Amino acid sequence: MSSKSSPDLMSKIVSLCKRRGFVYPSSEIYGGLNSCYDYGPLGTELKNNVKRYWMDSMTREFDDIEPLDSSILMHPRIWEASGHVANFTDPMVDCKTCKARFRADQLESATCGQKPSKNPQSCGGELTAPRLFNLMFKTFMGPVEDSSAVVFLRPETAQGIYVNFLNVMTTSRQKIPFGIAQIGKAFRNEITPGNFTFRTREFEQMEMQYFVKPGDDMNQFERWKEIRIQWHLGLGLKREKLRFHQHSEKELAHYAKAAFDIQYEFPFGWQEVEGIHNRSDFDLKQHEKFSGKKLSVFDEATKSPYVPFIVETSVGCDRATLTLLVDAYDEEPAAEGDEEGPRVVMRLHKSIAPVKIGVFPLMKKDGLPERATKIFETIKRKWRAQYDEAGSIGKRYRRMDEAGAPLCLTVDQEVGTITVRDRDSMKQERISESALVDYLTKYFGNP
Ligand code: ATP
Repeated sequence: MSSKSSPDLMSKIVSLCKRRGFVYPSSEIYGGLNSCYDYGPLGTELKNNVKRYWMDSMTREFDDIEPLDSSILMHPRIWEASGHVANFTDPMVDCKTCKARFRADQLESATCGQKPSKNPQSCGGELTAPRLFNLMFKTFMGPVEDSSAVVFLRPETAQGIYVNFLNVMTTSRQKIPFGIAQIGKAFRNEITPGNFTFRTREFEQMEMQYFVKPGDDMNQFERWKEIRIQWHLGLGLKREKLRFHQHSEKELAHYAKAAFDIQYEFPFGWQEVEGIHNRSDFDLKQHEKFSGKKLSVFDEATKSPYVPFIVETSVGCDRATLTLLVDAYDEEPAAEGDEEGPRVVMRLHKSIAPVKIGVFPLMKKDGLPERATKIFETIKRKWRAQYDEAGSIGKRYRRMDEAGAPLCLTVDQEVGTITVRDRDSMKQERISESALVDYLTKYFGNP
């Protein structure tokens, strides 16, 4: 029996994340800071694995994609050119009764802070007229806090790519079509953050901008839609939990010619995990206009310059990680005679699992801890492993199941052999100790 439909699935995941060190509330000893989270040991490993998997899938699978790491603080004119100063606003309404604030475009699904919680349209409270609210965080650069010193914390990583487009193309000797991939922090002063790490004010994005010849843009757009959904499926997400959502004319951002979201069915409904956008030549033309620098390329065929179109794939790293946690969470009722009770297991894909292998001596005697430690020392630099000799073997398996470790190795009195236990099937097989590294390399691939 699976607990997937259980309404309190999110609270179970939040509690497991805290208990096992995936995610903690930020500044907890000071009472927390709304919508900010810290990744613990397991969460850091998991998120780093997701980032590595994404960057590798971009820059190792495709020869025409280059990595970039641009700064968070950028010239303030960039945000005028991008449209963020003028357009990056969500119209908001306030409830005059309970004082809660809601996005005007999300009133139907909103609930207020009253107990019991009500929908702002049906509670009878009067709402203010919608007001605009800029989502960019402002700060000052240098010692003087005046308007000439204002800079913004970037609300997306994409602009850092656009303003480096010519630098990257020239230095890496790429030709259109080619892409630039970047992972980095973004900040948005979201009005209604929530649902754990789904919507926060500080988050990381994994964005790839693919520069194409006008006319090739819709082909490339369709190509990247397919590549990106396959990426999520490749990490083991369930097909029936993923879908595309096409942006209607009304939803399209000011820069977009076409846009699809990849959505996942979270316990709180279908929500965007990744956006795939055909941004036309809007961005590069805007930066040409605001910087006064040419950002065109020369077309050998027609002997004339043109400004490339951009196909963007943009996925939140924290949101992708949350999606993987939600998809992976499973509960199984206790088998007959099982003293440990129901089994909670994180069925994380082996390529992103934060711990790959648990290593246990069956008992703390007969030289078993020494043999198990030796095995742990042999494998730990290749695969993230944890040595555990505390408590019953059943408890140790449960700890590794909650951490999502795909394999556990147990050493018992039979010298020269190891028992390998598979997290998902719970099948155990005895292999020879000398074949272990080959076995693990075959299972996990070469690290
Ligand atoms: P939403 O409609 O959920 O606000 P968006 O359409 O504004 O998202 P984009 O600007 O397309 O999002 O950002 C690309 C990706 O960045 C999103 O698909 C999401 O994964 C991630 N992202 C955006 N805002 C947040 C946030 N506040 N917290 C966490 N991740 C975010």
